[in-house]
Amino acid sequence: MKVLVVNCGSSSVKYQLLNMEDESVMARGLVERIGIEGSRLKHQATGKDEVVIEKAMPDHKAALKVITDVLIDEKDGVIKDTSEISAVGHRVVHGGEKFSGSVKITEEVMDTLRECADLAPLHNPPNIMGIEACRQLMPGTSMAGTFDTAFHHTLPDYAYIYPIPYEYYEKYGVRKYGFHGTSHKYVSERAAQILGKPLKDLKIITCHLGNGASMAAVDGGESVETSMGFTPLEGLAMGTRCGSIDPAIAAFLMEKENMTIDEVNNVLNKRSGVMGISGVSSDFRDLEQAAEKGNKRAALAIDVFAYKVKKYIGSYSAVMNGVDVIVFTAGLGENSISMREKICSGLGYLGLELDPEANNVRGKEAVISKPGCKVKAVVIPTNEELMIARDTVRIIG
Ligand code: ADP
Repeated sequence: MKVLVVNCGSSSVKYQLLNMEDESVMARGLVERIGIEGSRLKHQATGKDEVVIEKAMPDHKAALKVITDVLIDEKDGVIKDTSEISAVGHRVVHGGEKFSGSVKITEEVMDTLRECADLAPLHNPPNIMGIEACRQLMPGTSMAGTFDTAFHHTLPDYAYIYPIPYEYYEKYGVRKYGFHGTSHKYVSERAAQILGKPLKDLKIITCHLGNGASMAAVDGGESVETSMGFTPLEGLAMGTRCGSIDPAIAAFLMEKENMTIDEVNNVLNKRSGVMGISGVSSDFRDLEQAAEKGNKRAALAIDVFAYKVKKYIGSYSAVMNGVDVIVFTAGLGENSISMREKICSGLGYLGLELDPEANNVRGKEAVISKPGCKVKAVVIPTNEELMIARDTVRIIG
């Protein structure tokens, strides 16, 4: 069974075609700059050279047509006809309170997704466009949706209810939802496998540290707390997002700087985080370089980021009455040796000490705590596409 996994952003589409007989990736790629000048596709069939196709792609349907064309291309493709694709699995950011797991896409599901669009105005509309485009391009092919929010469906009410008038929860669904759920689920399951322990017996803190960053407390395989909230703006400091700050700051800035709601939202989502602190970059590689050259604000941005992760580790240990495993994943978590070192320094009280040699690893699975430590630290590259493909097979079968 071949499954196409599709992840549509506002101006991008990421995709992977997987052969689910052996879960191997047949091809993967990315379309960028949809709807703007310079749109292009980067496509890589496994074992072949990467190809770049520069072509005007005014919308998601045009982008998905270029993707399906290259997948069946004689030279760069991996299948003869799109009918070989048994099912399409779509990443959907917000499933609201309705979806506690992946679902088969039906008309009813599409209606619910449109209702949820209000909760994730930046993310859900492109996800919906992607599903609609695939349904037009591959009529008759079954589709499934996997939600970033679904894994956090198990949060208890006292964790997801905000201390604001309850009527806003009832009226608008204002509550914590949490995101990156597919990643938190994948790495927590993988951690149990790597350590050879049953997931149900483990208290795991998962740190998904990428450009967008979030953490989860996973107790016995269930998410019981997570750092992102009503939107992906809450929680850790991120590349350009502020994370949790005093909510009064928004109104204060609007007044002082004469900003509109859109403008202040733009500042908190696009001009804050480590980018905002450093003034250098949202990319930690640039920050590490700048800090080495003596840039104090770049060093401060790194310190702020690490400090917040450490605070969440402390609070999630309290939430679960202990912790057995801390997992690092996503761009920064998988690759930054120095960031992991900074975060884990001073966690001796928990029973965790990093092994500097084992921690000298990038982008592959490794146990990085010293042998015999009570709390294990592990690096696990995330694989959201594989999770989506597995769920799609389970649902469409
Ligand atoms: P997202 O999917 O949220 O865009 P990723 O998970 O791809 O983000 O992570 C991207 C981030 O990972 C980059 O912004 C960069 O800060 C960080 N990163 C990637 N590789 C390295 C590295 N070798 N050293 C330090 N940071 C890295």
